[in-house]
Amino acid sequence: MTQSHTFCFSMDVELGIGAEHSVVKRCSDPKHARRVMVDVLSGLRKTGIRATFALIGHLMLPGCQGHDPRRSPSIDWWKMDPCSSYPSEDSWYAPDIVRMIDSEGHEIACHTFSHVDFASPACTPNVARFEIEEWLKASGNMGISSRSFVFPRNNTGYLELLPEYGFDRYAVDGGSQDFFNPSLPSPYPSEVGGMLVIPRTFMISEFRLSNPQKAGKLSRLLMHWKKRGGFFHLWTHEWSLASRRDLMILGNALKFAGRHGEGIGFSDL
Ligand SMILES: [Zn+2]
Ligand SMILES: [Zn+2]
Repeated sequence: MTQSHTFCFSMDVELGIGAEHSVVKRCSDPKHARRVMVDVLSGLRKTGIRATFALIGHLMLPGCQGHDPRRSPSIDWWKMDPCSSYPSEDSWYAPDIVRMIDSEGHEIACHTFSHVDFASPACTPNVARFEIEEWLKASGNMGISSRSFVFPRNNTGYLELLPEYGFDRYAVDGGSQDFFNPSLPSPYPSEVGGMLVIPRTFMISEFRLSNPQKAGKLSRLLMHWKKRGGFFHLWTHEWSLASRRDLMILGNALKFAGRHGEGIGFSDL
């Protein structure tokens, strides 16, 4: 890190993929997702911040005809798969979003192929390998490579597989309470077992921002970061930014961070 004020912005891009997302209306609204992406990318462009977008691999497919159920997780996400193509099923396939992100020079990270919790007993070693290998295939077909990994729900598992597939860094839930504790160092990325572990300081979600106390906490954290320096990692999902107000608060946070620090992706750390 080259500056005393380092800022990361990352977004997990999920749309309707994964058993838990495909049943939640706001996750599977493809129009909303695309409106959010245009807005966020414009905010990043204006503030000169390079960001990391953790994509579910299935979204990178132009289309599919289903997947091998013997290697798929026991949760039945693959039964919901429309086995169709973009743009007719644009909450399951989003090569347009991948191109938008990539053409702006942002980083694309692995968020598994179908959003399987790597810490769940349903995720056998075969499933974990399937999830990583299919992600690499889908991203490779789009000319994208990555060394950064974001675990679904930030639950780590099969860490030993990551370097085997070329990943040398991953994000974890950072715990913003530590950030305020003056006796603790700022939660900087640290090296553990040869991997760079990148803490996520604060998550923006509509649940938080509709609550003025939580929105106020983001402002206080950013002021604290400005005063003390160090590392600040703001993250969210495209479906978490549910309202204009959420987008406005994020836009203001990006402006503040761009003015007071250097906004970089995981691979720049
Ligand atoms: Zn599919
Ligand atoms: Zn996720």
